[in-house]
Amino acid sequence: MVGILTVLAFNTVVVGSVGYLLFCADPQTNRLARALLHTGPNKLLGAATAVFGDRPERLYNFCCFTPNPLLQIFYLVLVNGGFLMFMVHGYPLLPNEYMGPVHLVLPFLVMAACILTFTLACTVEPGHLTVQNAAAYDNYPADGVIFLPGKVCPTCKVPKLARSKHCRVCNRCVSRFDHHCGWLNQCVGERNYRFFLLFLVTHVAMLWYAAALLGGILLSVANAKRLWSATFVHPATGARAPPGAAVIAQWFAFHHAQLCALLLLAGAMGAVLSGFTAYHAWLAARGTTTNEAAKWGDARAYHRRLARAYATATGDGGGGEQGRSGGGRCDVPAAGDPPLDSDGDGALLEAPGRMPANIYNNGPWANLLEVLLPRCYRRQGRRRMVPARDPFEFSAASYWEEAAEDDAPQEQLS
Ligand SMILES: [Zn+2]
Ligand SMILES: [Zn+2]
Repeated sequence: MVGILTVLAFNTVVVGSVGYLLFCADPQTNRLARALLHTGPNKLLGAATAVFGDRPERLYNFCCFTPNPLLQIFYLVLVNGGFLMFMVHGYPLLPNEYMGPVHLVLPFLVMAACILTFTLACTVEPGHLTVQNAAAYDNYPADGVIFLPGKVCPTCKVPKLARSKHCRVCNRCVSRFDHHCGWLNQCVGERNYRFFLLFLVTHVAMLWYAAALLGGILLSVANAKRLWSATFVHPATGARAPPGAAVIAQWFAFHHAQLCALLLLAGAMGAVLSGFTAYHAWLAARGTTTNEAAKWGDARAYHRRLARAYATATGDGGGGEQGRSGGGRCDVPAAGDPPLDSDGDGALLEAPGRMPANIYNNGPWANLLEVLLPRCYRRQGRRRMVPARDPFEFSAASYWEEAAEDDAPQEQLS
């Protein structure tokens, strides 16, 4: 038992750490995340290229940056394989004292719901933008913080509408872009986000139902075999052991390995997918998307940097009149003037202002309605919100302009 718990704890720590480094840590500031996401893969790719030529890079580009059905096939194999295994090893043990006759039918309905929502999420078009249909999707004003007005996608040549993004995998702009989903082999955007959520909720329900069903089957087997009071004999040594959690778990692992594997898989995936679904429910309730959450993170970091530079230059940050910022000495402005920029170009340094709120957040219920009934479908969808900008609020326009210039060759990919 201690061994099983140690393995579980070790797996949780390893999976949690890798998950944090992959999805949460910033590669620009976190050395481990950089090694895992950039340096490591690049070195591996370099070594593989030295041996196999350009084939590994082509394979990498195909898997990561080209629409392909690899994960869809993996999903279908996993779900259908799991269901088949359940039909062979678990279904004959139904009904039982814990799982009544209704569970002879329910697994088929749950499975059908999973395949149906998967098909919907894969096939409903996410809201690809074209010059012809851009007006129908132009329902959000630019907020001046994470979306700037009057931009055009350099690749598609369509207007860069607020809340849209160019998907580097599909190579198309998508309205109210959330993310590109490899499992669905398409983007998640304004039109199919509701089906993506439905897909998540259905699969969370399926996984917990499967875990409960398998748990009920194993418990009924334990009761039927009276494992709680049995004496266990080691087949090789003949040693006798009293009943206990560890020895009963061993018995199940030996006699019902497939059901145990399915139970562990359903429980682990149920926990992970529940967390992911809760995150998306939280995003939807706050009127934001995965893409926008990342952009807000960048804008806030930029705001903090400006605020720190300003505080240092004005002496508030403890730097005094000749405080250091970015490694350079700050010029001392004349009394009454705004302070000068610290990089020595003589530009005036302005206070960054207050961090503005998300103008697309209209309260949880209105935000949820926006997901269930997207604006592009509504008759009054084009009645545009007018952002009430406070003149003292921070604008990240220059940050995105600079980022676009720095990434000029990749801008078409971002
Ligand atoms: Zn585009
Ligand atoms: Zn895409």
